[in-house]
Amino acid sequence: MKKEILRLKREKNAVILAHHYQSLAVKEVADFVGDSLELSKIASKVDESRILLCGVHFMAETAKILAPQKRVFLPNKEAGCPMADMVTAERLAEMKIQYPEAVVVTYVNSSAEVKAISDICCTSSNAVKIVNSIDAKQILFVPDQNLGQYVQSLCPDKEIVLWRGFCPTHHRVTAQEVDARMAEFSGAVLFAHPECRPEVLSRADFIGSTAQIITACEESGAMEIVIGTEQGVVDTLRLKHPEKTFHLLDEAMVCKNMKKTTLEDIYYTLSEDRGEIFVDETVSKNAYGAIHRMMERS
Ligand code: SF4
Repeated sequence: MKKEILRLKREKNAVILAHHYQSLAVKEVADFVGDSLELSKIASKVDESRILLCGVHFMAETAKILAPQKRVFLPNKEAGCPMADMVTAERLAEMKIQYPEAVVVTYVNSSAEVKAISDICCTSSNAVKIVNSIDAKQILFVPDQNLGQYVQSLCPDKEIVLWRGFCPTHHRVTAQEVDARMAEFSGAVLFAHPECRPEVLSRADFIGSTAQIITACEESGAMEIVIGTEQGVVDTLRLKHPEKTFHLLDEAMVCKNMKKTTLEDIYYTLSEDRGEIFVDETVSKNAYGAIHRMMERS
């Protein structure tokens, strides 16, 4: 299957981009593995005419918005993001009426329609920088409440109005579970993603995006690290750093949607052109503005 995928990839002039949360098998056939921001940047620059985005729906949409002249495919069309589904353009439009002075900062984990009516996007790696770069005091932060609260803690001069969305994979972990896990591995440090609850982040030795956690693990002198993000990151770290010990904060931190994509999906996407992503032209143009403003500032 892997050989066939590599052959078809060349034949179809395709590039495979995979998120860190994908399975090891998928990451093995990918040309690039990265977090949302890294994959967006790569998608906007690649030479190939086709992009296979192994991740979830909003990521493939973002790639299509950034590279409208390319054919972009999502290998498994069932791979969505429950957090992105927690905000719709209609509900955000209502909220904007309630907060007319607020600047809308939208996490990239959102639909193209939501991005299209936002002022600027952010990722978990640049959210603080983006919010600090805005002149207005009031920010409507959409859709992740945990990331929004984390940004608020680092931007005390801003008034952040939170949308009450969350990532089920990160939000599920409680403070009690963290305490129990850390007691199991006394001497280990905790590196956590800002999509975790505030009480989990308050126990962390380092807080950062997926890519920032990987870099911090590489640069840290710690030999035993508990990882507070999706399980795929632990796979990557164990492969890259066999000299260190990595534990997943909670064995349930597995994103079912990220794990839906299989090698078979990639094979059939390449061989039968399945799962092509299309974005309405006006929506795409407006969403591009919000993403581009983020990229200029990050
Ligand atoms: S890990 Fe969370 S935010 Fe990421 S795709 Fe899965 S549900 Fe969405």
